[in-house]
Amino acid sequence: MTKMLVAEDLSAVGGISLSAALPVLTAMRYQVAALPTSLLSTHTSGYGRPAIQDLSTWLPAVFDHWMAAKLDFDQALIGYVGSVELVDLLHKYLMAQQVALTVVDPVLGDLGELYSGFDGDYVMAMRRLIQTADVILPNVTEASLLTGLPYAADPDLAVLLPALQKLVKPGAHAIITDVTRDDLIGCAWLADGQVQYSGQPRLPGHYNGTGDTLAAVIAGLLGQGYSLAQAVPLANQWLNAAVAETLAENRDDERQGVALGNLLRAILALQAS
Ligand code: ADP
Ligand code: MG
Repeated sequence: MTKMLVAEDLSAVGGISLSAALPVLTAMRYQVAALPTSLLSTHTSGYGRPAIQDLSTWLPAVFDHWMAAKLDFDQALIGYVGSVELVDLLHKYLMAQQVALTVVDPVLGDLGELYSGFDGDYVMAMRRLIQTADVILPNVTEASLLTGLPYAADPDLAVLLPALQKLVKPGAHAIITDVTRDDLIGCAWLADGQVQYSGQPRLPGHYNGTGDTLAAVIAGLLGQGYSLAQAVPLANQWLNAAVAETLAENRDDERQGVALGNLLRAILALQAS
């Protein structure tokens, strides 16, 4: 079994980030090392101020133990980290490891703004971390923050994507995740210098955890040998199915992450084929 390190926040209530990545990657037959980068009572969208446990003294001890126990990983998926110190710690750990495929979702902000608690130093730390990545998955806001280009909701991808590619190592790929085209939402990346786009109809509403789930799906498919051109459209289809299922549930609480039933069935069907 392929061993994947998944490092991101664990929000007890809300069904996003680590809680969403684990079932997705388990269904894809990965052996997952689930490493919370911080512990929260809920995610940060709609429950008021969560109780947060900072793990910056625990995480160095984890890495020391893993080194001593000679534990290593074939792949890594990095999501929300939370502090410059921890981003640098992860960077150092990944540099010392031989990870065949590292996917980084450089979680920094949305809708043109940094998330609260983050500043310019955090963006600089994230620029360092993405140098270890084979694939990065910024949204449009994060792409602008990382490159320093002005934010536009509908950016010039022929400018933004090459600027992102300059921040990652040769051969690595930058995929921008919340790109709108007409009534589609999807992802854009470069292949042979040309802008590629894959999208699905944008369904009404805003959902928590779509980005985390998309990152887990893409990391999982790429690790199984699917090309970007195969993995990204499949991931967009599955996320569309997850949002459609969420809509069909007519939830009375909109804060919970997207429904994963259809997506997990699609994964299992693909694995069986
Ligand atoms: P996040 O803000 O959680 O990082 P994104 O907005 O980047 O997530 O969404 C990630 C992916 O989820 C998109 O690329 C798309 O495939 C899917 N998605 C998100 N919102 C919708 C929606 N309203 N309708 C259909 N698909 C969606
Ligand atoms: Mg995102």
